[in-house]
Amino acid sequence: MATEVKTTCPYCGVGCGVVATVGDDGGIGVKGDPDHPANFGRLCSKGAALGETLDLDGRLLYPEIGGQAAEWDEALDLVADRFSQAIAEHGPDSVAFYVSGQLLTEDYYVANKLMKGFIGSGNIDTNSRLCMSSSVAGHRRAFGSDTVPGCYEDLELADLVVLTGSNLAWCHPVLYQRLVAAKAARPQMQVVVIDPRRTMTADIADMHLAIRPDGDVALFNGLFAHLASSPAFDQGYISPHTSGFAEAFAAASAFDQATLARLTGLAEQELAAFFQLFESSEKVVTCYSQGVNQSVSGTDKVNAIINCHLATGRIGRPGMGPFSLTGQPNAMGGREVGGLANMLAAHMDIEKAGDRDQVRRFWGAPAIAARPGLKAVDMFRAVADGRIKAIWIMATNPVVSMPDADAIEAALRACPFVVVSDVIRQTDTTRHAHVLLPSLGWGEKDGTVTNSERRISRQRSFLTAPGEARADWWQLAEVGSLMGFAGAFAYASASEIFAEHAGLSGFENDGRRDFDVGAYAEIDGAGYDALMPFQWPQPRGKASTVTRFFADGGFYHPDGRARFIATTSQIAKRVSDAFPFTLNTGRVRDHWHTMTRTGKSARLSAHIGEPFVEIHPRDAMELDLSPADLVVLESPFGAAVVRALITDRQARGNLFVPMHWNDQFAAKARIDALVPPITDPVSGQPASKNVAVSARRF
Ligand code: SF4
Repeated sequence: MATEVKTTCPYCGVGCGVVATVGDDGGIGVKGDPDHPANFGRLCSKGAALGETLDLDGRLLYPEIGGQAAEWDEALDLVADRFSQAIAEHGPDSVAFYVSGQLLTEDYYVANKLMKGFIGSGNIDTNSRLCMSSSVAGHRRAFGSDTVPGCYEDLELADLVVLTGSNLAWCHPVLYQRLVAAKAARPQMQVVVIDPRRTMTADIADMHLAIRPDGDVALFNGLFAHLASSPAFDQGYISPHTSGFAEAFAAASAFDQATLARLTGLAEQELAAFFQLFESSEKVVTCYSQGVNQSVSGTDKVNAIINCHLATGRIGRPGMGPFSLTGQPNAMGGREVGGLANMLAAHMDIEKAGDRDQVRRFWGAPAIAARPGLKAVDMFRAVADGRIKAIWIMATNPVVSMPDADAIEAALRACPFVVVSDVIRQTDTTRHAHVLLPSLGWGEKDGTVTNSERRISRQRSFLTAPGEARADWWQLAEVGSLMGFAGAFAYASASEIFAEHAGLSGFENDGRRDFDVGAYAEIDGAGYDALMPFQWPQPRGKASTVTRFFADGGFYHPDGRARFIATTSQIAKRVSDAFPFTLNTGRVRDHWHTMTRTGKSARLSAHIGEPFVEIHPRDAMELDLSPADLVVLESPFGAAVVRALITDRQARGNLFVPMHWNDQFAAKARIDALVPPITDPVSGQPASKNVAVSARRF
């Protein structure tokens, strides 16, 4: 008889529940979980095709050393020895982990514990740095913690949904489906899409603002200044619950309408119409994603948005609030366990001695990292210049996805010791590994993930582990034990790790991390197996299926107030005569990251079969391009060759290329090779949306 297992989709941050059915003949069926609060039975094309990506073709099934099959003991001994040797000779900051929002929370927890608590370095960063670290930094500046105030239901309850830097239709498709259904049920609901491109999401928009790349701070500062003299201004919220209004208002008021129009590229009438709509809509949610985060002013953009919600008190109430849409399935879980180089576990602060000591005592750790580690771009710089002697990369493909990707490849080629844990044997990154460790894939591994609305769900295994593949947390725990920390890494199951993580959240937690921890710190294997999706943290004493924060203040700064942040970022001029186009990178609907899984599905590849560059018809004419011509794109950092897709959805002077394709699927298609390694100064997030390039016919 067929077996049904409830699990969670491994792709985007919506975190849809999935029911996987294993037939008597071993056939796998996949459908949406009707009971999961993220999707209520819906799936997008990627989720629906999960069953087509589970074959073992191309899988990494056995450990390898130097390209030769090896025993686990041999491989783990070598990893532990080489990391220990580097630490002994060059100190703990000579080693690093580069991990991933694809990891489960339990994997992330053990990686963070080993690096920050036992190796004693902060050098663990994650590809979530490329995804939402500007949102994290913006939340922490405004709220005193990385807390998402609202939940998905708010998009359905709002009278106005603002989507800025978010192609929701393609990047968070099920949330888009929920929005479409809500708008169909309440046609008076307004949707504003702010994006230089007229994406598929703009098809639902009542207003599309084709903003200049990186014009967001100016736009939301203009809105903030407008709101401050409007009836929507909520002094009753601002006075008791916030500080810093005067400085933020002064910065926001710096520009007249004509300057705002120039900085945003929007007509004064468009600005006025948007400001009026925002002012008059009590229930407004502002959703933002990579178009906001992946910028040299990403953190300021986030705070400029949050300022508008604080000024109107529209936060933490049904249908109201700023809302960060995370890209990855477990970017949020990684944040909770301290998977970023500048954070500690359980939202504690690595820069506070008291927090460091608290975590160290809970872990019984010999040496807690004394300072933040290197963020992703700086970490690979340190690999390149020899400061890092050994790096362990887990569940990610930085040779494709990092900015200045060719330099990442060169850095790994020169690194004395590279370990890669992955499910795929041949990727652009695995070919540089001295040691390859086979990991469990979706359907085989067991643990938890946290989606964009802070909802923890179980990923459950329903397939037998193939070959000698093992869980990432097990690999880390074994290496930790071999490095001399056996007592701290003696985990028998993912549930033990989850319980420890919950215990740390509650440890000496005098209300600072507003979470009722009791039920989860004591959880056993059976309880863990039965765990239903729930939001984390839960406001203390208000356990509910839907939780929100900050309607009545209660922020996490020591004085309990939110901070208005003065945001002043200007738009840098990047294009030049030599590099006259502004390149924007992003996703397509049916592929995920570097296509190691979605590339297996012919159905998904049928949507868009090749990498392409969207280009405006006038620009195409000037370059003498016809549809499907090959186009050479170049920046000072690298080059790519892609097909021309001529469309007036793209603004003149702007180009769009998806980030998925890599050398496994198409020659010279790694678009991140063109992206410069420049980052937001607060968050360290690379600016992947505004890259100066040249274009010519191949
Ligand atoms: Fe998976 Fe995201 Fe699609 Fe849901 S919306 S099925 S989580 S890819």
